[in-house]
Amino acid sequence: MNRSAPRLIYCDYAATTPIASEVLAEMLPYLQEGYGNASSLHAAGRRAAVALQKARRDLAALLSAAPGEILFTSGGTESDNAALRGIASARRAQTGANHIITSAVEHKAVLATAGELRDHYGFELTVLPVDHTGLVRVNDVAAVIGDGSDVAVISIMVANNEVGTIQPISAIGALCRRAGVPFHTDAVQAAGKLPLNVATLGVDAMSLSGHKIYGPKGVGLLYLRRGVPFWPQITGGSQEGSRRGGTENVPGIVGFARAMALSEAQREGEMVRQQQLRDRLIGGVREGNEAVQLTGDAVQRLPNHASFVVDGLDAEGMLIALDLAGIAASSGSACSSGSQQPSHVLRAMGYSPELSASAIRFSLGRDTTPHEIDIVIDQFLQILARMRQDA
Ligand code: PLP
Repeated sequence: MNRSAPRLIYCDYAATTPIASEVLAEMLPYLQEGYGNASSLHAAGRRAAVALQKARRDLAALLSAAPGEILFTSGGTESDNAALRGIASARRAQTGANHIITSAVEHKAVLATAGELRDHYGFELTVLPVDHTGLVRVNDVAAVIGDGSDVAVISIMVANNEVGTIQPISAIGALCRRAGVPFHTDAVQAAGKLPLNVATLGVDAMSLSGHKIYGPKGVGLLYLRRGVPFWPQITGGSQEGSRRGGTENVPGIVGFARAMALSEAQREGEMVRQQQLRDRLIGGVREGNEAVQLTGDAVQRLPNHASFVVDGLDAEGMLIALDLAGIAASSGSACSSGSQQPSHVLRAMGYSPELSASAIRFSLGRDTTPHEIDIVIDQFLQILARMRQDA
C-alpha cells in the first residue's frame, strides 16, 4: 500500500456505505460453509433457514413489527415497486379504489412506478406539491384523501435523498389510519438516522435497503402490515410466505440484520456527532461564500446531510474538481448523476432549472472526522472561487 496516498474523503454516504467489518464477519460463514438453501430439508438447509429466521426476528423487533410482516427483497427499489404495484393492484381488486397518491420529491423508484401504474394500468395519480423546503403539507394530503374510499395506496418518503428534508410521517399516518387508506413510506435514507417504529409512524408498508446502513448491496426489506392487501410481484416460489419468490439471499439478509442492529445501537450518539459535523460544514461553507444556498428544511432535515445550490455553478465540473482533490460528493441522487437533468426534487421545491442543475450534496457517515470537514470546506470554497474566476 502506498502510505503517502491521501485518504479519500468520502462524503457520499447517502449514495452508499462501506460494509461494516462486523457485518462482513457475520456474512462470511453463509457465503462459505453455510451455503445451504433455506428451503432444503437437510442440515445445511436448516442451518440457513435458522439464520434467516433469526435475521427476520431481529429486524422485526428493531422496527416493532412481527416477523411475518417482513418481506426480504433485493433492495429499496424493489421494495418501493412491490409496495406500490402490490398494494394498489390488490386493493383495487378488493374495493375498486383506483387512486394513487404520492409526492413530487419521491425517489424515482416510487415516482416512475406510480407513473407506470397510471400510464399502463389505468390508475389515477395525484403527485402532491411540496413547499420551498421540500415539505409535503399535511392539509394537502387530507384534502386529496377525502373519505379514502377511492385511494388504492399513498406513498410519502420519511426523508429525502437529495435535500434531506424529513416529512411529517406520523401525522400523515394518522390521517391514513382514520380514512382506512394503505400508507407506504420509503425509509431508505432514514434508516440508522431516525427512529423507525412502524406503529409510531402509523405506516402499513415501509421500504429499507441494506447498503445505506453499512450492510451489503442487493438486499432490503418491505415491511407489510398484516392484513394489508398485497399481490406478489415476483411469483414462482413459496419463499417469504409466497409474497416474493426466489431463493433467499441468506448472507445478504444476515448481514443486513446485523447492519441494522449496529446502526440502531449507535444511532443516538452517531447522529449527535454527525449533526455537529454537518453544521460545521454548512456554517463554514456559507461563511466563506454567501452565494452558496443550503437546500431543504433548516430544522426538519437528516442529521448527516448538507446540500447546496450555487447560481451559475457547473455541478459536474465541481464534482470532478472535488474528486481530483480526493473528495467524493454527489450532485444529488446517485441515480441522477450522469443524466445531466436538473433535479426533479429541486424543481418541485421551486428552484429554477439552472439552480436545480447546480446541486452539490455532501452526506456524512461513521468515518467522517472534523479534520475532513475542514478540508472539504476549504477545498469546496477554493474550487468555487477558481471556477468563478475562470467563468
Ligand atoms: N429510495 C431512496 C430514498 C433512495 O435514496 C434509494 C437509493 O438511492 C432507493 C430508494 C433505492 O434503493 P436501492 O439502491 O437499495 O435499490
